Amino acid sequence: MSTTSDLDKRHVWHPFTQAKTALPPIPINRASGAKLYAEDGREFIDLVSSWWVNLHGHAHPDIANAVAKQAQTLEQVIFADFTHAPAAGLAEKITSILPGDLNRVFFSDDGSTAVEVSLKLAHQYWRNKGEIRKKFIAFDGGYHGDTVGAMSTGAASGFFDAFKPMLFPVDFAPYPETWEGDTDVEQKERSSLNAIEKILTDNPGDIAAIIIEPLIQGAGGMRMCRPEFLQALQALAKEKNVLVIYDEVMTGFGRTGDLFACRKARTQPDLICLSKGLTGGFMALSLTVARDDLYDAFWDDSLDKAFLHGHSFTANPLGCAAGLASFDLLTADSCQQRIRGIEALHRSRMLPLNAHPKAHKARVMGTIAALDIKTDDSGYGAGIGPFLKKSFMDRGLLIRPLGNVVYLLPPYCIEDDELNRAYDVIEEVLHKI
Ligand SMILES: *Cc1c(COP(=O)(O)O)cnc(C)c1O
Repeated sequence: MSTTSDLDKRHVWHPFTQAKTALPPIPINRASGAKLYAEDGREFIDLVSSWWVNLHGHAHPDIANAVAKQAQTLEQVIFADFTHAPAAGLAEKITSILPGDLNRVFFSDDGSTAVEVSLKLAHQYWRNKGEIRKKFIAFDGGYHGDTVGAMSTGAASGFFDAFKPMLFPVDFAPYPETWEGDTDVEQKERSSLNAIEKILTDNPGDIAAIIIEPLIQGAGGMRMCRPEFLQALQALAKEKNVLVIYDEVMTGFGRTGDLFACRKARTQPDLICLSKGLTGGFMALSLTVARDDLYDAFWDDSLDKAFLHGHSFTANPLGCAAGLASFDLLTADSCQQRIRGIEALHRSRMLPLNAHPKAHKARVMGTIAALDIKTDDSGYGAGIGPFLKKSFMDRGLLIRPLGNVVYLLPPYCIEDDELNRAYDVIEEVLHKI
């Protein structure tokens, strides 16, 4: 009989992978809490929440039961002309904790499609108001997904060089990344705002929206900015009459220490994209939430002004049921306390590593901690990346550096001794470089 590895090797194409040079993928047959169990008996502590989607640990019984129950009641129904309790209930819960009048939820399937929806909504919003605005502003190092609109707004990340000819033009501003002990942050914020102001001046009436990963750029290397910058950005956008889109696909659902980055930064975007943690890591689902004013611009007798967009599995009931169960777990006191506990442990173990001769730019926000390894080549393709990844995997830790950036983004169920073990190994590996 063929093993999983045999079949995989013959038939499967893996994401973000050069199959010729990569190690063969590891068959996992079970997971529980923060632990992954491999077919060959190995165990790994999942310190990246399986690409940032898992919140409460793997195979959490509450979410598993909610999905199972929903599957036996209503597994799927077309979402045009029909609705259902899990979708309406999830929309109500999410909007109740988003700031201001972010009240209207459009469902889609993943982070990339949530971003596509936000870009199309922004464009059509202006069209419905009688203006054609073709362009967007995004940030250096920003990542918004792998579909064509998302790639266009993430083009400065360097991930998409193979697809450059397919992308639409976007103007990019510097992201004022900061870290522990950074003394230049205000200067960086000023030059970013100046760059945005210049783009707006150079493209009068042509910018539909500014899209940003608020507080933390994920795939770009866990680069953090200050709430003050987001507040200044919002003021500038308001003054210049452009929309602001928050891509909170990664930062949402507690990662920054607050339920959403927009709440932590005390700002209110016009559109917000949510996915990854939404279902606790069980189902592919995403939301684009719009302010009332945007929804009103589509409210008309004419179909021409409607948002003619949708996906086969829009608002899939299984995903919505998982989202509701995950939301209850997330907002429970015990989970909120655990989030604060993770942040405290990150601070006590990550920030001192700033003093290590091979490391710098240590930073912590909420449940996310990161550190840059000093190398000649930085970025996602940095030569040290594969060495780091293998060193961690050999020691039973799923830590997947972004090039020379080592970061931890654990599920909230992680225990202190598991996190301490990760830091012990990071220290050990730092000494080996
Ligand atoms: C992962 C990510 C996306 C894309 O989400 P997918 O579900 O992978 O399509 C978009 N934006 C941000 C900030 C992300 O981290």
